[in-house]
Amino acid sequence: MPYKRLLFQIYLTFLVITFISLSTITWFAQNLARDFYLKETSRNLQDSAVLLNDQVLAALSDGQTDLLNTHIIRCDSLTKMRFTVILTNGKVVADSRENPNRMDNHAGRPEVKDAVAGRAGSSKRFSYTVEENLMYVAVPVKQDDKIIAVTRASISINAIEAALSSIINKFIITTIILILIIALIGWLVSRRISAPYEEIFNAIERVAHGDLNFRLNPTKSRVMKNLNEALNKMIVQIDEKIKTINQQSREQQAVLRSMAEGVIAVDSNKNIITMNTAAYKLLGLDMDQVEGRKIKEIVKYKELRKIITHAIKTNELIEDEIIIPPDDRYVQLHGTMLKNENGETIGALVVLNDVTRLRRLEVVRRDFVANVSHEIRTPLTSIKGFIETLLDGAIEEPDTAKRFLKIMIKQSNRLNSIIEDLLTLASIEESEKRQAVQFSKAKINKVIDSALSVCQPRAQNKNIALTVKGDDKIELMMNATLVEQALVNLIDNAVKYSAENTTVEIESVIEKDECVLNVKDQGIGVAKEQLPRIFERFYRVDKARSRTLGGTGLGLAIVKHIAKVHNGRVTVESTVGKGSIFRLILPKIKKAD
Ligand code: ADP
Repeated sequence: MPYKRLLFQIYLTFLVITFISLSTITWFAQNLARDFYLKETSRNLQDSAVLLNDQVLAALSDGQTDLLNTHIIRCDSLTKMRFTVILTNGKVVADSRENPNRMDNHAGRPEVKDAVAGRAGSSKRFSYTVEENLMYVAVPVKQDDKIIAVTRASISINAIEAALSSIINKFIITTIILILIIALIGWLVSRRISAPYEEIFNAIERVAHGDLNFRLNPTKSRVMKNLNEALNKMIVQIDEKIKTINQQSREQQAVLRSMAEGVIAVDSNKNIITMNTAAYKLLGLDMDQVEGRKIKEIVKYKELRKIITHAIKTNELIEDEIIIPPDDRYVQLHGTMLKNENGETIGALVVLNDVTRLRRLEVVRRDFVANVSHEIRTPLTSIKGFIETLLDGAIEEPDTAKRFLKIMIKQSNRLNSIIEDLLTLASIEESEKRQAVQFSKAKINKVIDSALSVCQPRAQNKNIALTVKGDDKIELMMNATLVEQALVNLIDNAVKYSAENTTVEIESVIEKDECVLNVKDQGIGVAKEQLPRIFERFYRVDKARSRTLGGTGLGLAIVKHIAKVHNGRVTVESTVGKGSIFRLILPKIKKAD
């Protein structure tokens, strides 16, 4: 925890400084005290010795050394000092702790020597007399300016040391108490100093863990206030930046998700960076998370992997196409190098386009051209054959020639019908594409009547009754010519594919906002498996029959397109041998009042 480290660093520094300074002060103080105490003791010894001088002088003058001895023993008991009186020749005449007669000559003692020389002398040493370390001070005893003896006072150094250590102990105890108090105060102060940093450390840690929903509390300290404000600003900015990045990423994801094209981005190691929903669908993938996985683990199509390998290496647009089972979808692939803002290669991008519709349309178009050619070639070949036969001499036989010419007329009419139907289909398609079909409000029964008048002669030829029923007031927005054309085709087919003496019923009804025009016959019907195909161009159930009946195979395709331009549809129900019902359904009807 950085905060704890900081607290201890501050506190430790504080403690070390306190300890060093207090110890130094204590050490100096105890030295000073020691010097002072020793000096004081020495002065005391000297003063005490000087005080005795008068008695010493008097006792020596009277020769009463015994009395002197008694006196100094009393003084010793009062002051705890040892007193000795020594003659200048070194002979001890009195001593408060020893019999002077048993004592050796003291002339050689340094303090005695100094006192004999006329000045106060002092010394510290072991006394063999009392067997302990003593501090001595000796002063001269003068009679008429003549030194006649020396008074010496001494004290046990052990006593001095004991007194001194008591003083030093007091110093040390005081210092320890002080250190403890200061350590406590130091702890509180260190905490106070480091507490704001704690908040900052915690804040930074929260930011590092991605939590940006908090702000630092205001503080009284000016420095910390500025720091807190700066940090708060930083958090707000990071928060905003992250929100912007998230927003951009969401938008990017939304764009990628909504794209009809599949997009796959991989890095230089061919790990997937992004793959959008369209790409998943196009490749038929059924997994959740592919980001970060190798492309070869996910995609089995070699062409796609090859494009990625190429795109990473070369700076060209690479194209290919794959067919994806099970419904054989054609997917076009475009691969390019993926670069960063510095222009360095960071991977590859592949865009997938579903071109199935396009490819199927191409096939339809190809088939259509082939069908048209085939349909036109048949009557043309037939006409050409008859012309050649006529030229080869058949023209000379009027009956044969007449028969041939009739057939030729029939084939020409067929050719004409095909071309007319093709043109109609092309024109409807074109108008549909350009949305140029004109719509106007028209009554449906009028359109039915017109269609009937066109189909009537053919129906009469087969003695087929055309009946009309249903709602005759229906009125709707439509292109009446096209709807009439569709009805003609449906009624014409009903007549064509019905036996003589049957009925074809045309009915107009409204079903759920739609106008339904039913053309019902009692004809040959269409087998169930053929039904979905009869609306294709040139598709006929029975080619020969259709041709004989003058069919082009385009009638229902035209109906389908007419329904489409009206946003409607055409459906069929049929039973072989029983009849069919074709339904032209036109939406958005409007009933006449
Ligand atoms: P065609 O010119 O051959 O009639 P259509 O496109 O109008 O071409 O019809 C396609 C095929 O659908 C016809 O060849 C025929 O086999 C079948 N068909 C259409 N209408 C009927 C119907 N009313 N009864 C039975 N078969 C039909």
